[in-house]
Amino acid sequence: MGVKRIVLFGAPGAGKGTQAEWLCNAVDLAHLSTGDMLRSAVANKTEVGLKAKSFMEAGKLVPDDVVVGVVVDAIAQSAKSTPNGYALDGFPRTLPQAEALREMLAKRSENINLVVLINTPEELILERLTQRRSCPDPKCGAVYNLKSKPPKKAGVCDQCGKALVQRNDDRPETISTRLQAYRKETEPLAAYYKKAGVLVDIPGSGSVYEVAGRILEAVAKLGRHA
Ligand code: AMP
Repeated sequence: MGVKRIVLFGAPGAGKGTQAEWLCNAVDLAHLSTGDMLRSAVANKTEVGLKAKSFMEAGKLVPDDVVVGVVVDAIAQSAKSTPNGYALDGFPRTLPQAEALREMLAKRSENINLVVLINTPEELILERLTQRRSCPDPKCGAVYNLKSKPPKKAGVCDQCGKALVQRNDDRPETISTRLQAYRKETEPLAAYYKKAGVLVDIPGSGSVYEVAGRILEAVAKLGRHA
């Protein structure tokens, strides 16, 4: 098939970031993570970063207009560097964002061809978020799990040697706000994309490779039908 425009969607901690990275390496797509873009904007104190910071620290969603602007730019850039397509990770997260994306693509006679919902049980999500440790350097951004993917040397990033941190929004008090935002604002997108005929719902439990295999299967089917 032609250009792949994929959305990976699921609760915080469902494995979107890990899977998006894996998928994008496997089939040569641009990995467009709004969380990573916003964290980098906050670290660099850009105008977007200053607008996003307080929302992110509180575990709340950043306002739609701010995020949509970031994504429009990222998609335009990715078309130059990775013509094969992209996987959006963490966007859209609200119905207005999904509509803005649809309208933006429709102007170019494009659409999203696959939305993968990574369906992960809540106990697993809570465990993953509390065990997650991240490299604070936005240029590196490596992510670890104290149980399933610990760094070689405790507390130190394998890739760049920086001291690992727990993301502010991975602390228990913020996690519940993020999960509530997911249930209220983001979960309704499953019905939206189901109606559009592009939703594939896969279980997020099992190893990284098991989940990756399920996603790759959905992407391969897309190739056959298009
Ligand atoms: P993530 O790394 O995807 O969990 O995103 C971290 C945080 O960035 C979220 O808790 C939100 O505060 C913000 N964020 C990321 N993507 C979006 C989005 N599409 N809409 C609103 N806020 C977002």
